[in-house]
Amino acid sequence: MIVAIDGPSGAGKSTVAKAVAKKLGFSCLDTGAMYRSIAWLACERGIDLHDDETLGQIARQADIVFGHVDGDPIPKQVFIDGHDVTDAIRTKEIDKAVSPTSASPSVRAAMLDQQRRIALSGDYVIEGRDIGTVVFPDADVKVFLTASDEERAHRRLRQNVDRGVGSIDYEEILADLKRRDEYDSSREVAPLVAADDAVVMDSTDLYIEDVIEKICNLAKDAQ
Ligand code: C5P
Repeated sequence: MIVAIDGPSGAGKSTVAKAVAKKLGFSCLDTGAMYRSIAWLACERGIDLHDDETLGQIARQADIVFGHVDGDPIPKQVFIDGHDVTDAIRTKEIDKAVSPTSASPSVRAAMLDQQRRIALSGDYVIEGRDIGTVVFPDADVKVFLTASDEERAHRRLRQNVDRGVGSIDYEEILADLKRRDEYDSSREVAPLVAADDAVVMDSTDLYIEDVIEKICNLAKDAQ
């Protein structure tokens, strides 16, 4: 079974996806981490972030692996070509670099292949921007998770403080979320948009536990 959770930055997708996966006993895939890893590699190699061909080459050859700590089924680490980039992909620089990288059609084609291949191995909760529309248009459950801009910025701020990486300046985070939403929504390939058959959940005034329970119930109904 595939549970697709899409939505804008900071809507709580990661927290919700991990908790839903844990409750259902599913694996969990953070596709944003995959795009961030490619952006990191492109920056390391000094590649022009608008050079679709070269970006596509590195994306097709890149080996992205999610690492598990202490037997936890939910991955906590990300490696690309053997480099542990778990923290390095959450910096302000990568926040900026990831939008142009993920707008590259060749990068998207490479990631789509990898994401479909990964999900062949079992039941998955997959979070991203285009999972219900492009990667898995036949997903059993599709959720589009949103929240107000201000609430999303507060959540991202708390997440950055907890992780000890990324900006901890509220105004800077708010501006970055809005900039990425705009970029992700207006790109030509696989823009950020709710699938016609997605359940849209505005989590601004909901407890995160309620969102998790609602999605678990949708998954149980679909089984
Ligand atoms: O989810 P996260 O905020 O880490 O995603 C980082 C960026 O990766 C997004 O702003 C978007 O540009 C890109 N992304 C995407 N498609 C996905 C997941 C993420 O374009 N399925």
